[in-house]
Amino acid sequence: MRTRFAPSPTGPLHLGHAYSAILNHDAARASGGSFVLRIEDIDRSRARPEWEAAIYEDLRWLGLDWEEPVMRQSDRMPAYAEALDRLWDMGVLYPCDCRRRDIIEALSAPQEGSVTYGPDGPVYPGTCRPGTVPTGPRPTGTALRLDMRRALQRIGDAPLSYIESGERIEVSRDALVDAVGDVAIARRDMDTSYHLSVVVDDAAQGITDVMRGADLADATQIHVLLQVLLSLPSPRYVHHELIRDEAGKRLAKRDDARAISRYRDDGHRPGDIRAMVNL
Ligand code: GLU
Repeated sequence: MRTRFAPSPTGPLHLGHAYSAILNHDAARASGGSFVLRIEDIDRSRARPEWEAAIYEDLRWLGLDWEEPVMRQSDRMPAYAEALDRLWDMGVLYPCDCRRRDIIEALSAPQEGSVTYGPDGPVYPGTCRPGTVPTGPRPTGTALRLDMRRALQRIGDAPLSYIESGERIEVSRDALVDAVGDVAIARRDMDTSYHLSVVVDDAAQGITDVMRGADLADATQIHVLLQVLLSLPSPRYVHHELIRDEAGKRLAKRDDARAISRYRDDGHRPGDIRAMVNL
């Protein structure tokens, strides 16, 4: 078993992160396997080195240890570019310069039906989707969307399923078209996306088991499709419950009231954190 914790260094780790990190760490240790970290810092506008340093400090304080060196996504751009080239050569990507506002406007036009929300927000209405497969070199500096219908044609009747909490789940091809749609696989200012990077890196790090929050459960169908397109292995998945505050609201990075560092400064011990998240 090889597990990972993959935080984005955009704010303090809170109780929800502690839960996820401890779960992955302890499962690896219990099975005699390994636990790795990955710093998901592709959003250069939000990632900060001081948050990365704070992540290591919090995890060490919690008593976790991990394999070195730590993978940092900002060092992995060549690997993402290679994956994008492969997808581009398959003819399943197209460039798109629509802004979020354009998409909302297109969706609220009278002839459109009601707006469907997918894992990345409103399902893209297809404004930039070309009638024929784009040719020439892969464009950069623009968003690239996955042409969902073409991607499904490309994989034909290959199996599209994954293991969730020990059970095999079939990914619905209809749901991919209707409820996920043409998601961005490269974002304009990033030249990659969460979906692409997580799939490429889980494979590169040899992750066998992904345990992450239920908020990412819906994204898994996209990840499994990318794994099939790119011939990468699928890890087993568990999407765990989210830690909520007393009002039932899920914790966010900006809630530093539940930051691990805050508990530490208040004199709590790592064991108290484990107890707070029922581990
Ligand atoms: N970087 C993501 C986050 O902090 C986690 C990604 C994952 O576990 O797949 O929410």
